[in-house]
Amino acid sequence: MITLKGISKSFGLNRVLDQINLNVNKSEVVVILGPSGSGKSTLLRCATFLEEPDEGMIRMGDYEIQAGGKTTKQRKDQIRLLRQHTGFVFQQFNLFPHKTALQNVMEGLITIKKMPLVEAKRLAEGLLEKVGLAEKGDHYPSRLSGGQQQRVGIARALAMEPLVMLYDEPTSALDPELVREVLTVMKDLAREGMTMVVVTHEMGFAREVADRVIFMDGGKIIEQGKPEEIFTMPKEERTRKFLSIIE
Ligand code: ADP
Ligand code: MG
Repeated sequence: MITLKGISKSFGLNRVLDQINLNVNKSEVVVILGPSGSGKSTLLRCATFLEEPDEGMIRMGDYEIQAGGKTTKQRKDQIRLLRQHTGFVFQQFNLFPHKTALQNVMEGLITIKKMPLVEAKRLAEGLLEKVGLAEKGDHYPSRLSGGQQQRVGIARALAMEPLVMLYDEPTSALDPELVREVLTVMKDLAREGMTMVVVTHEMGFAREVADRVIFMDGGKIIEQGKPEEIFTMPKEERTRKFLSIIE
């Protein structure tokens, strides 16, 4: 479903990603762990060309883009299509504050998918119901809890029928009592077969839901495996150290 090949990225002299190779299969849930500054967010951003990689190739479904290509119209179209087929959920919820929950979910359906209003509304209502917010459609983000806002963010991403969902620390900005409701929605999606890449420090989620756990440090994939392998018998010293601090 996703292939990243030889992805490298530097900011000035700081080499943040160093030849990252990653394949994610359909319906696979990959959790990425790693210390702050190890390049996790940059990797997700590069995967959607929110950040242009210096080198490498990204394939998502049928869309394949080489890093460092000339900015032709065709390339721009490919990047736009790749992004449209990717659901991105950020730590900060990034909802439109002047739109209701329902309007936030409808936005992409109307502006990007050019869906008729009635149809967009029906679909958006269904998605809000799916994330447990059927009752909150007419609420503005300021009247929703962080957990509810993040669930609206997930519903909004799902509206675009993404091939894959990317999550960058989706629960890190939440009060502890609100973390679970977001993880539960993510778990349900995983169970339904959604392909997901999740950067998180929620080890319980990683153990329970991940098919594969990847440990990153210094812009490299240091180690990867099934959760039970990584958590109970990590091979690399750096992984061991990280897990002993975080758990
Ligand atoms: P993580 O998500 O694992 O904490 P990041 O991908 O955010 O790590 O950052 C990796 C490194 O890249 C850090 O040293 C960070 O300071 C640097 N970095 C990230 N984005 C930028 C940017 N836009 N400009 C300069 N440096 C950046
Ligand atoms: Mg980050």
